[in-house]
Formats: sequence, structure tokens, C-alpha cells
Amino acid sequence: MTKTHCPYCALQCGMEIGPGLAISPRTDIPANASGALCQKGWTAGELLTNGTRLTAPLLHGQPVEWDVALDYVAYRLSAIRAEHGPDAVAVFGGGGLTNEKAYQLGKFARVALGTSQIDYNGRFCMSSAAAASIRAFGMDRGMPFPITDLAGADVVLLAGGNVAETMPPFVRHLSGPRVIVIDPRRTQTAKLAWLHLQPTPGTDLALALGLLHLAIADELVDEAYVAARTTGFDEVRTSVSAWWPERVERVTGVPVYRMRQAVRALAAAGNAYVLTGRGAEQHAKGTDTVSAFINLALALGLPGTFGSGYGCVTGQGNGQGGREHGQKADQLPGYRKIDDPAAREHVAGVWGVPAASLPGPGRSAYELLDALGTQEGPRALLLFGSNPIISAPASERVAERIGALDLLVTCDFVMSETAALADVVFPVTQWAEESGTMTNLEGRVLLRRRAVDPPEGVRSDLDVIAGLAGRLGHDFPADPAEVFDELRRASAGGPADYSGITYERIADESGVFWPCPSPGHPGTPRPFLDSFATPDGRARFVPVQHRPAAEETDEDYPVYLTTGRVLAHYQSGAQTRRIAPLVKAAPEPYVELHPDLAEQLGIVVGDVVRVSSRRGQSKAVARISDAIRRDTVFMPFHWEGANRLTNPALDPTSRMPEFKVCAVRVERDS
Ligand code: SF4
Repeated sequence: MTKTHCPYCALQCGMEIGPGLAISPRTDIPANASGALCQKGWTAGELLTNGTRLTAPLLHGQPVEWDVALDYVAYRLSAIRAEHGPDAVAVFGGGGLTNEKAYQLGKFARVALGTSQIDYNGRFCMSSAAAASIRAFGMDRGMPFPITDLAGADVVLLAGGNVAETMPPFVRHLSGPRVIVIDPRRTQTAKLAWLHLQPTPGTDLALALGLLHLAIADELVDEAYVAARTTGFDEVRTSVSAWWPERVERVTGVPVYRMRQAVRALAAAGNAYVLTGRGAEQHAKGTDTVSAFINLALALGLPGTFGSGYGCVTGQGNGQGGREHGQKADQLPGYRKIDDPAAREHVAGVWGVPAASLPGPGRSAYELLDALGTQEGPRALLLFGSNPIISAPASERVAERIGALDLLVTCDFVMSETAALADVVFPVTQWAEESGTMTNLEGRVLLRRRAVDPPEGVRSDLDVIAGLAGRLGHDFPADPAEVFDELRRASAGGPADYSGITYERIADESGVFWPCPSPGHPGTPRPFLDSFATPDGRARFVPVQHRPAAEETDEDYPVYLTTGRVLAHYQSGAQTRRIAPLVKAAPEPYVELHPDLAEQLGIVVGDVVRVSSRRGQSKAVARISDAIRRDTVFMPFHWEGANRLTNPALDPTSRMPEFKVCAVRVERDS
């Protein structure tokens, strides 16, 4: 039996792989110590044996030797760089890549290619929560406490998260507390909740302001905590005064008595948590929305105290680690800012290059995709662990931009929708065929051990990077342990300091929490207990104001669309849409609409429905449910279609697109 972790979500459930790819849960990993796995985890072995796997590099659709493909790509990259400059080559990574790959991609882009044009699909995932956490606490570590702490709380407020479907074993940690869910849908999680607040899509920020207004008005603020551990409350107190409950009810549709119930329960709790998920974060005002929830948590005295706090429920498998090691446009390893001179000196020293040679910040994910093939934008794109034809907003526009490239290179294990457009596809290993570290939603660094050999002809993304770097005149290791050793040195002294973490320690201790700055350091499960990572050690209240969604409903597009996940599938579905039991459980895309809306539109269950937005059209089968608001329809985003409709309006701070709300027209397809 080999100890490893699930290939999918940020819970990173521990599992063992035995003979015949038999999977069993581990009991030494707290996230799923109860022995739970979801349907996706139980069937993960089938990813390895899937009949649609690629086993040879493809050059313009034809199988070729590895050296031929690597030589071709290196030649084309050199030619494009020579003609258009280093920023004509872009790199796009993924939040499912191991820490080693995320690190090596950032180094590859900035040292071997000399380009500033690197970002990753995690920008579409939790970047708003990361930005809000950094501005409040000075550091972003997702949930800055062990997941097992949740069970001891009296109340947990979960804004915009559907953990019962996205990561079912998480629910076991919520069996103790009373749970308050904020979601426009009565999701599986909302059905389990003690209280469900069902706001109009795009109004979570107003709701959070209203909750804080009530806490202040009803004298529920923890004044001693606010005085001792925070700064800036007076400004926030003033800024929420305009958000009186009746006004918030008009904006959000949530009754005042429900808001009051939620605030009183949170304030009366001995221990409580405020958590946010993508529903609150994936907005053009996502950072401010998360700030508003953090302000509420701070006013109630929760963050940085034992048994209480604020946390972001990160979604992608390595969503946390993926944002720490340098594949993000504005960051260097150790979760350092790329424009910080000291950070540049340190990282350049580890990389053996002059700090002045490192490029500055590049375009954010959507802006990068939107610039592809334009006069000023990149001419070549190297894509690792991502399928933007399905997962990017306004996806038809993104497909057009990708089509305008001179060179598209992808690393994938199957012919995903994006790989199908590539000039070169490198067939790469799956999780159990390679070793590497992942950092789960708690900030716990975990080790995936190689359990089986990959199919003949398949190599790791690290081999692709090393092969290309070598051809461009740079010596990059491909061995994950060697890369991790360098990552540790590059991270030393940064917020995400991994320098005391080794593969051996992770294996012996079932994971190590960062920051861990020396081999003898125990790791830091709760980093804010004594002080926050701000210059004065205090958390910062940030005044924010509600504003409407970037696109409101109107006569032409009278219904809100919101998107999300279903239990059986993960992200773009490139993996899970190939697993027979998962396809059987959830075979096709659908549109969920309220019975009243369905009647008004003459739609019955099973009708094919056409959904149109200003960006495109999509068809799916109608499901009718009173779990959704009358003014809103829901579509899962695992299939081509949902993201043809979504709005690429960006958050000004995190550059997160507004996935969670746009205006659509819904019609029965004739
Ligand atoms: Fe656990 Fe997430 Fe894997 Fe399901 S998908 S088994 S919840 S890690």
C-alpha cells in the first residue's frame, strides 16, 4: 500500500493505493480521518487506466518522439522571442499542480523565458479571499486553523460555499456547530444548515454590511478585542451606518429577522467561525465582499483566537500551495511580492541570476487570455494543468484568442477541449504516478507518493519544463525532491516559509503546517494567535461599500445566472467526465429554474432550454426546483456552455472575474 492523497479538491483527503489500484481512506489525515472519501475519491484509480489517455507527444495531431516535440517547441519559442521579445511567450499554470511544479513554472517563465507573462487558473478560484486576507491580516493562509477546530465551535457562518457537494467529508467537521449558510440556492449544504439566508446573486456584500450594522446597533461588538487586536474600526463603523437592515433587506431580499437571527447566534457563541467560498468571492467586488465578512468576524472578536476565526474554503487541490510559489503574475516563491526589492534579491540569489534580470508583474489570468494573439499580447502560450476553453469566463472569446496564437503547447493526460486546439500536446503523469507536495485548505503541506508507474511514453510536467529549459540553455532538475529542496530555500524568510519542511517530516507527521522556518520548528497550525502578520501585529478593518453587479438584469436579459459545481464532477470536468460511475451520476449539463419561472416561460422538466447572455448562448436540459430563487437560474460549469455566458468583469484588486452573477435570457428551445 502506498500513502498518497486524492487527485481532486483542496481537502486533499488521505488515501492509500494498493494492488489493482484499490483505494482506501487513510485515518492519519485529519481532513478525512473518519474514513470518508467522496464518489470522486473512491473512483480516482480509474483516472490512471482511462482508455483516452495520451501516451505520445502530439505535433499537429501526429504522434512524435519526445525529443522531436521538445526540439520543435524550443525552436519555436526561441524564434517567437527573437522576433517579438520575451513577453511574446506566456505561461498559464494551474491550482492542481504540485508545489514543485508551481515553483518550477514560475522559475521557468522568469529565468528560462524571461517573460513577465505568467499566471494561473487559481486566479479564477480564491484570489479575492487571498487579497482580502492579506489586507486584513497581512498574510493569506486560507483557513488559518486546523479543520478539526470547526467541530468545537458553536456556530459556523458559511458564505457562498456548498461543501456538501464540493467536498463532502468537510461536512463531518460541521456536525457539532449550528451552521448558517448564505447562498442564492438551497444547496445540499443549505439543507443541512440551521439557518439559510438566500440573497439575490451579487448582493453578498450588502448582506455582510447589514450583518455588521446590526451587530453594532444591537451592541454585540467585542469592544475589548477590537481595542486590543485591531485598527480601523471607527471608519468601518461609520461606513456601515448607511446599511440599515430594511435597506439591506430591499437590496438582498433577506428578511431583517433572519439577519438578526444570524448575527445574534454568532455573537452569542462561545466559539464561532466565518468562512467564505467561491459564491461570495467570484465577483467583480469579491475582495470587498470578503473584506466585509472579515470586518464582521473582527467586530465579533473571532480571528486569531483559539477555537474561533475567519477562513477561506479553498477549492482546487493545491489552491493554497499553487498561490505561494511563484506561478502567480505578481508573486515570487515564499508568497512574496514580485515588486519587493528584498524578495527579488533573495529569490534571484537562489536562482543564480541578477535580481535586475527578473521581470516585473505580468497580466492577470483573464487579461492574459484576452490578450493572446493581439498586437501587444503573447504570440505563444504554454499551458499546464488547465482547460480554459471550459473554465474561463466568456469562453468563446477566449477560444477566439487562443485560435489567434502562433503556438499553443499544452501538457495534459487526455485530449481536453483546450488540448484539442494545441500545436503540441505533451502527455503527462497523473497524481499517483509521481511524487510531490500539495498544501491543503488548512495550510498543511502534504506528500503524494508515487504509487504506480506511468504508462510508457508518459512523463511528468517537471520533465517537460526541464527538457525545454535545457534546450533554452538552463539546467533545471526534474526530480521532485530536488525541486522541493530548492523551493524550501527560495521560500525561506517569506510569509509561506517551507524551509523547515522535508518529505520525511511530512510522512512522519502526516503533514506540516507552514510557516515552518527551521528543521526543529513544529509548524504553525494557528498563525494568528499571538499577533497578525501586519507591521503592528493588529488586524486591519477595511471600509468597503456595496455596489451592484457588473451586469444587472434588464428587459433583454431578465434573469440572473449563477454557476457552481455538482458532487460527481470537478472543475472543467476534463478528469471526471471520463470516469464511468461519475458520468452515470451526472451525465449532462442542466439548467435549474424555479417552478414559477418555468411556468412563466412555458418550460417543463426535461425540455431543452436555451440560455443567452451578451457573450454567448448555451443549451441544457431543464430541471425545475424551488431550491433556486424565482429570479435566478443555476448551471454547473463542468461542461462547455456555462462559461460561454459568464461575465469577465474583473475585481479591481484580485482580478477575479464575475463568475457568480450575470444577466441572461432563458427560452425553451424550439
Ligand atoms: Fe476528498 Fe475532495 Fe477527493 Fe472528494 S474530491 S475524496 S472530498 S479530496
